[in-house]
Amino acid sequence: MMNNTIAHANSCTLHTHSNPKTGLFAIIAIHSTKLGPALGGCRCIDYPDTDSATEDVTRLAKGMSYKAALAGIHHGGGKSVLIRPKEFKDRHAYFEEFGEFVESLDGSYITSVDSGTNIEDMDDISHATSHVCGTSSDGCTPSIYTAMGVLEGIKAAVKAKLHRHDLDGIHVAIQGVGNVGAALALSLEELGAKLSLSDVSDTTLNNCLSKLKNPGSANIISPKDIYKVPCDVFSPCGLGGIINQDSLQQLDCKIVAGSANNQLADEADGMSLHESGILYAPDYVINAGGLIDVSLIPQGISEQEVASKTKHIGTTLEEIFKRAEKENKACHAIANEMAENILYH
Ligand code: NAD
Repeated sequence: MMNNTIAHANSCTLHTHSNPKTGLFAIIAIHSTKLGPALGGCRCIDYPDTDSATEDVTRLAKGMSYKAALAGIHHGGGKSVLIRPKEFKDRHAYFEEFGEFVESLDGSYITSVDSGTNIEDMDDISHATSHVCGTSSDGCTPSIYTAMGVLEGIKAAVKAKLHRHDLDGIHVAIQGVGNVGAALALSLEELGAKLSLSDVSDTTLNNCLSKLKNPGSANIISPKDIYKVPCDVFSPCGLGGIINQDSLQQLDCKIVAGSANNQLADEADGMSLHESGILYAPDYVINAGGLIDVSLIPQGISEQEVASKTKHIGTTLEEIFKRAEKENKACHAIANEMAENILYH
């Protein structure tokens, strides 16, 4: 077993831990604790090498600092990645050991669910540390609050771009109808929006349709055609990197507003959206509802207050949209300036 090693990369403090017996190879990156202990999910996926895992964890940890700063919560930014072993010898022991590693950082990092981990893993982590949220017993429901924040973001964008105060008849094309996308689709249907839905998984798509009041009214679009749908709002709720030079040629929308993390393949693509007259709701601002939930619920804060803080995402976006127009800057650049103002001044 290798004890924790500490290094620094991309403005983050890195803590690493490995144990060939359990197959655990973990990196925790802490970007900032200025606003409070670093909070961010634990990702357990394949990485080709340690460098790419380090690159991912540091980029994600920085993103969490920016997200928490603009969401107005008292947490800093951190993240952990576990380089997924070919097979788990004992998944429970693996995550319990990761919990011990989290515990060794004395509360400077709090972990949660992310790609490749689940509630059961959080329960295993909780056997070794209290610095974990998203367990089966803490009452957090992050996807619901993420969808709530995205809905508020869409309302704010529609108001700013289309000068409309309701969503009746507004056409929203959702890419990915998993946990967040399906909850969003349901809320949009309630408000009279027209829906185009796409998912690479037929099972997930059918699951979403089965929850709608009027499934027949939704257009089903193949994953390759979703960018081209003429619509008011393109809502990416699947993977990151989907705003790129290829999709920019295809988009036929007025607004991009969805939950996916790291939507811009490159910062320059945010500028391209701005120059094309497409209003972009910066991803880490609009998708902060889940973070607000996992930050506040374990502190005993009521669901009503969590909902109110999540709905404030719409107000923050309104400010970003106004400043972007006034200063003729891309929305993601304005969001970064606002977050950096909180984090570094
Ligand atoms: P999920 O895995 O439940 O759903 C994602 C869905 O997207 C899946 O059904 C998948 O099949 C589909 N998908 C993937 N690629 C696609 C493509 N090219 N075209 C169409 N569909 C595609 O995940 P989720 O929890 O709903 O999260 C959705 C996104 O929002 C992710 O990017 C996630 O990182 C981000 N996010 C989620 C939360 C949260 O609280 N769940 C919080 C912040 C950000």
